[in-house]
Amino acid sequence: MSVYLDYQAAKPVDDRVIEEMLPYFNKKFANPSSLHGDGDIATETLEKARKKVADFINAPKSSDILFTSGATESNNLALIGSALRNKRKGDHIIISEIEHISILNLGKYLERQGFKVSRVPVDQYGIINLDKLERFITDKTILISISTASNEVGSLQPIEEISKIATEKKILFHTDAVASEAVIPIDVQKVPIDLITFSSNDIYGPRGIGALYLKEGVRVNPILIGGGQERGMRSGSENIPGIVGFAKAAEIMKKEIHSESARLKILRDKLINGVLNSIPKSHLNGHPEKRLPNNAHFRFDYIEGESLILSLRDQGVGGATGSACSSKTLEASHTLIAMGLLHEEAHGSLLFTLGRFTKESDIDKAIDVLPDVIKRLRILSPLTPPDLLKKYNEVNN
Ligand code: PMP
Repeated sequence: MSVYLDYQAAKPVDDRVIEEMLPYFNKKFANPSSLHGDGDIATETLEKARKKVADFINAPKSSDILFTSGATESNNLALIGSALRNKRKGDHIIISEIEHISILNLGKYLERQGFKVSRVPVDQYGIINLDKLERFITDKTILISISTASNEVGSLQPIEEISKIATEKKILFHTDAVASEAVIPIDVQKVPIDLITFSSNDIYGPRGIGALYLKEGVRVNPILIGGGQERGMRSGSENIPGIVGFAKAAEIMKKEIHSESARLKILRDKLINGVLNSIPKSHLNGHPEKRLPNNAHFRFDYIEGESLILSLRDQGVGGATGSACSSKTLEASHTLIAMGLLHEEAHGSLLFTLGRFTKESDIDKAIDVLPDVIKRLRILSPLTPPDLLKKYNEVNN
């Protein structure tokens, strides 16, 4: 793929991270639970890495970080673990209508286990309605789980306000920060949040490793039962190479996030303006300003997203129709439907996500090939109205 604009689905591992990880596969491979000297060194490595990951979100103590196998597991531990831990206090959980599929499916799972789950609606930009959130709260509400940003349309959620509401009502607040962690700094000392899901690959570390931050005093029931690692809340021998890589990625990201984010925002705006100005009947999904600096989510009338992705693939440009995690279902995106789009509108979407290795020439290529690809598809589409077809034909002659 010559131009990769699908950073939300997967990010390459930074070379600096790979270099840091290598000795931990075959030289420094001991288990931190072992009592010999190499085991002690492994424990030291683990705790140093935990400190770096804690520093990334400004967590006061390293022990606030639990390592998991990735964001899906962190979300499972946050929702199931807090539901089970607090079920004597209440049985009600609040999520939003546009959460990542892992949270949506956890909501359904918890309903099957007897919990009640409310889903907060969003406005046309994909931003949750705080009044409705407050109205959902009852004396049985034990947890609110709202992501920091939509992983699809990139809309930023009012996390500070949700944190205030949750703190005031003494309800646990969990946020999945995966979509924003590489572009928006997390500071748990500025915005108090009880549980945060974040992952390594989303900051250019290896896959298969993630974390759940737990504010001091917050505990969850384990969902993996075993040897009692990670303060008894997540058993299983620690993935030391992965953890070392995650820590290195976090250290780099902490230093570079501001400059990287500013650079991506300039490229994103160039992409958005270039596309909207050159293609008739094109729209930006999500909020124009309150959006991730690396997210450009478009909608093109009379176009079907999958054929658009395939045509772009032929031109060497890789984008997505929406979330990679649900791309194989071919269903219209639940996020776009929740924002009030019709099914046919939701199917005409294209998501470009930018990242550390995106160059200006990548953006130029996308802006260059997209108008022609759209034009060709529209000429073939039975949905394209005659006046637009006529316009396209006039330009051809
Ligand atoms: N949450 C969000 C917002 C995501 O985008 C993803 C997918 N990258 C996940 C959770 C699940 O991550 P994973 O598949 O790495 O467990």
